[in-house]
Amino acid sequence: MSYYKTKGINLKSLPYGESNKILTIFTFDFGKISAIAKGARKTTSKFGVRMDSFACNDLMIAHGSSLDLISQCETIDTFYELRSNLILLEKAGYMCRIVNEVSTNKIKNEKLFDLLFSCLSMLKNGVNPEFVAALFDIRLMDIEGVFPTLDRCVKCHKTVPGNIRNIRFNSDFGGVVCFNCSVKENGNIKIHIDAVKLMAEIRNKEEDGFSDIMFREDVLLELKPLIKDHFERHLPINYEHS
Ligand SMILES: [Zn+2]
Repeated sequence: MSYYKTKGINLKSLPYGESNKILTIFTFDFGKISAIAKGARKTTSKFGVRMDSFACNDLMIAHGSSLDLISQCETIDTFYELRSNLILLEKAGYMCRIVNEVSTNKIKNEKLFDLLFSCLSMLKNGVNPEFVAALFDIRLMDIEGVFPTLDRCVKCHKTVPGNIRNIRFNSDFGGVVCFNCSVKENGNIKIHIDAVKLMAEIRNKEEDGFSDIMFREDVLLELKPLIKDHFERHLPINYEHS
């Protein structure tokens, strides 16, 4: 039997047979895979909570004829804390669902893996869950190649001044619209310029600088419908989360 090693985050688990689980795992080296964890539903299982959703493990997996088989695993982080709070559970569940929806079987995506791991870690470490979800969404737009144009009007291409209070955003056109163009078009969302600046900062920040990003809760609230609108137009996913 041949084996492969990787690290992976459990996106989803389904019961299989009397005592097994079939896991959808987002791995660092091979993207999304499915594998069976034999006996994982038994209370005496050698896997413990490592085969639960969100857990990240170093894995040794055996190639199988129909399903690969998890042979060994060592915990990197169980993210067990995320199950103790409904809001954290919902946000972590949302991010894992979206990664499952946008990823393709066995296509490596290191940036998406790192993003999911960073966001689960931030949730665990007490960072505002709404901020973590917004950061996840905004970085995902970039990874998926649908990040909006923010520095110039998508209609007339003129630079948008940074000293104005409000600006319009149009998902159909994929970015901000200046005042002159916005009076000629429908479907614009009015947002505070700080929301645009926050999106740009989140996109440009290195991952180890996420904790330096300053944000206001009212700006996060403004961003939410904009992100939803942009996602629904440009990505084939179900954005809904509370
Ligand atoms: Zn314009």
